[in-house]
Amino acid sequence: MDEYKVWLQVTIHPVLQGDELTHWVYLFTDITHIHNKEESVLTASGMDSLTKVANRNLFTDTVKRLVQEETAFKLFIIDICGFKRINEALSYQSGDEILKSFALRLQAFVGNSGFIARIGSNEFALVKREDTFKNESSEQYVKNLIQKLTQTYTVLNGSEPNLGVNIGEANYPAHCSSSEGLLQCADIALQASKYQGRNTALTYSEELHKQHFAINELENQLRKAIDENQLKLFLQPIVDLTTGKIVKCEALARWITPEGKFISPEVFIPLAEKSELIFPFGEWLINEACNAIDALKGANLDIRLAINISGRQVSDLALLNQIKNALEDHQLPGSNLSIELTESVLVESLDVVSVLLNELRGMGITVSIDDFGTGFSSLVYLKKLPIDELKIDRSFVSELEKNTDDQAIVQAILGLAHNLNIKIIAEGIETQQQQDFLQSHQCAYGQGYLYQRPVAIKEFISLAQKLK
Ligand code: C2E
Ligand code: CA
Ligand code: CA
Repeated sequence: MDEYKVWLQVTIHPVLQGDELTHWVYLFTDITHIHNKEESVLTASGMDSLTKVANRNLFTDTVKRLVQEETAFKLFIIDICGFKRINEALSYQSGDEILKSFALRLQAFVGNSGFIARIGSNEFALVKREDTFKNESSEQYVKNLIQKLTQTYTVLNGSEPNLGVNIGEANYPAHCSSSEGLLQCADIALQASKYQGRNTALTYSEELHKQHFAINELENQLRKAIDENQLKLFLQPIVDLTTGKIVKCEALARWITPEGKFISPEVFIPLAEKSELIFPFGEWLINEACNAIDALKGANLDIRLAINISGRQVSDLALLNQIKNALEDHQLPGSNLSIELTESVLVESLDVVSVLLNELRGMGITVSIDDFGTGFSSLVYLKKLPIDELKIDRSFVSELEKNTDDQAIVQAILGLAHNLNIKIIAEGIETQQQQDFLQSHQCAYGQGYLYQRPVAIKEFISLAQKLK
């Protein structure tokens, strides 16, 4: 059915009989024609109808004029990260509210010393002449701006979404002498800043330009690798520290190019996340994981297989169906599967994650928190969400023999998990001493090179059968 949206003006009249209120009369008037007019008038005058700041057209004209005047200035593109996720998790109405508050904050911060605009659905831009920076460096200015823009937002329904930004900067005339070129330069800097994570800013440089092309090239190769099934799944065992038996395994993606070059998942997963490639990758992963479970079962190895799920996949509602369909196609129960999520994913979108995890749990799939201790470490979600296991990050395990801080942290995590009835897996165990410490503090499970490096499925099966 086509969606039909109208603007309604509602007038409510109480109807009294004597002193007694008998009913209310609600009068609905369709005022769409008035609203549309207002919107088109605003757009024609160069205004964005939602935030009432300049729109992209007016912004481009302003930049062109500054270029003609040959005034030195800086151009910033400001992107709200994960905005799509906020829109989906709350509502489009809340998303609009945030955009309006965002524009107001930006306007208040910039004042009369610059020109701001909304140039995309979740993208704003700012031009500011060099001579308006006074004593402040542009780095300090941008730092203060990020701080201002990311202070807590409260929306109508009481939620306080955790908003992040990325900023790309380009300078006239240093970086480019045309207005279109400058926007492109700022955009390249913006894309590069996204790789550095939330709330970072970068200024355009030749070096960034080269990196931008290299990343694009790698992204094209990755697209091809997914299409042509060049990626492989490796498995690493998770063992019971007391018996040494394999209780579970983790699937880790590997990319070996046709030229034999190994590209680490720490490079290509973030790359896939920044582009839309994480979605076809996720589909490949879940199907490949089911193939691996089939192979394990065929070899009489009845162990759970854990897959890693990244932040952007969680915000995609298709993920749940992909998992359901893959399990159904392979006629596998959820009890064969487990998923690993990092803490940052939970904190960023608690509401969406909560629905997802409960659904997965309902299917018999268990949930582990990956890299525990490195993220925001908010303990709220441990109580709120259905979590089965915590995986202590290997940075706390690698120096466990001599670092007393790490020893204290590991003991604290073990105590906490014990009280909450959550299992613990220690990651990255490489030495006997690390294992001894963990075991003497009642850590039940471990994973690491001490037992086995990640290996191809066939190899995993033959090793696992020997250990049985
Ligand atoms: P992770 O989930 O924390 O995976 C564990 C990483 O630690 C793996 O690196 C594994 O090879 C490595 N490791 C295991 N034992 C030891 C040890 O004893 N010592 C040391 N130094 N390292 C050990 P890998 O395979 O390079 O993966 C790196 C990260 O890439 C993973 O970290 C995970 O975040 C991501 N990743 C890998 N495969 C996937 C995937 O299929 N999907 C998603 N979303 N992310 C993946
Ligand atoms: Ca993991
Ligand atoms: Ca980990």
